[in-house]
Amino acid sequence: MVAISPSSFSIFRNYAASARAFGIVRAARAPSFNSHRLSLLLPPHSHRSLFRLSATNDEEANAKAAAANADTGASTIFDKIIAKEIPSTIVYEDEKVLAFKDINPQAPVHVVVIPKFRDGLTQLAKAEARHGEILGQLLYAAKIVAEKEGILDGFRVVINNGPGACQSVYHLHLHVLGGRQMKWPPG
Ligand code: AMP
Repeated sequence: MVAISPSSFSIFRNYAASARAFGIVRAARAPSFNSHRLSLLLPPHSHRSLFRLSATNDEEANAKAAAANADTGASTIFDKIIAKEIPSTIVYEDEKVLAFKDINPQAPVHVVVIPKFRDGLTQLAKAEARHGEILGQLLYAAKIVAEKEGILDGFRVVINNGPGACQSVYHLHLHVLGGRQMKWPPG
């Protein structure tokens, strides 16, 4: 039995507050420790933190795996969405831009905005001067999405770039998030 005092809970919660801290927890943990066992010992509200920690770890691993194929020119799941080969809930579409609901929403409103033609834009870091027009169109589409979704009074636009930001799909996209109070700093 692992002895956990109330002060240990608060230390754990503080660590749980950031993915970076999770790295410290993982590095420091005893060989016999696992999150399932710990969840039996922790109060119920801590289970959510454990789940978040585990999800964060998965996201980081997925992002690293995705980055390995980033520059191969391989198509992505978004190509299938553009081609309507797989279903999506489209919120906005024009000749150049497609916006659809995220399959794993992080807020009551979570819409992904993408260029229909990737044109080398696997990620924002690949942007060149010639991409200025489409980048502006994507941002304007984000505003249209926010308007359509009724969140113009408070919304966030996010671009995850590279494994360090947990980018998982290498087709440039904006996340439009809203419908709840957004916190700062972001995780
Ligand atoms: P990122 O992690 O910034 O690369 O964002 C990729 C986003 O695409 C994630 O939020 C996923 O949930 C989302 N996503 C992946 N597959 C689908 C899909 N088939 N339909 C809608 N959203 C998706």
